Amino acid sequence: MVLEIRLYGDPVLREQGKPVTEFDDKLAKLVEDIKETITTEDAAALAAQQIGEAIMLTVIDFSYMLERNYPIDFDYKYDGKEVPLGLLMPLTVINPKIEYSSEETDLMEEGCMSFPLGVRPSVRRSKEVEISFQDVQGGQHRLWCNGILARCVQHEIDHLNGILFIDHASTQDLRRFESKLKKIKRHTRDLMKQRAKGKK
Ligand SMILES: [Zn+2]
Repeated sequence: MVLEIRLYGDPVLREQGKPVTEFDDKLAKLVEDIKETITTEDAAALAAQQIGEAIMLTVIDFSYMLERNYPIDFDYKYDGKEVPLGLLMPLTVINPKIEYSSEETDLMEEGCMSFPLGVRPSVRRSKEVEISFQDVQGGQHRLWCNGILARCVQHEIDHLNGILFIDHASTQDLRRFESKLKKIKRHTRDLMKQRAKGKK
């Protein structure tokens, strides 16, 4: 089932995710729905908050890079091994913990599914991270990565803690995207009113 993506202004995006404790069929179904939503919406990743659930769960899917022959110009190790990207993705990341992040950073434009209309601020992030996390069955894993994958991992873990990329943006960028941000917020308010009516 394709899920509705929550946009900027929706309070759920600001909620701290609760740790996942039950690795049951309900969780598996949610993960499948997120994967389907990522494919349908042409996303690279989605955090649970973005589909309205404040829990420590995100799915990263760089499969589009392989489908479109994008250069894979980043390195990664999954449980200490080199795994082909096509086998690693989609990657379900539950209860992640950042074990290491490099002092060395870089500044790059980012996009986010909760910020349509081309809101793309520049965000400074660590070049390299290592995380520990659980899979959908509760198994423990580690991922070390750099480049765009490290950037994506940090963006997603931020989401799980209620942090959005605009929180890292410069005042200049915030000014540049101010009218678009206002427009998205207005749209979200209308959507939430509709949703509230639907529930009555
Ligand atoms: Zn995002």
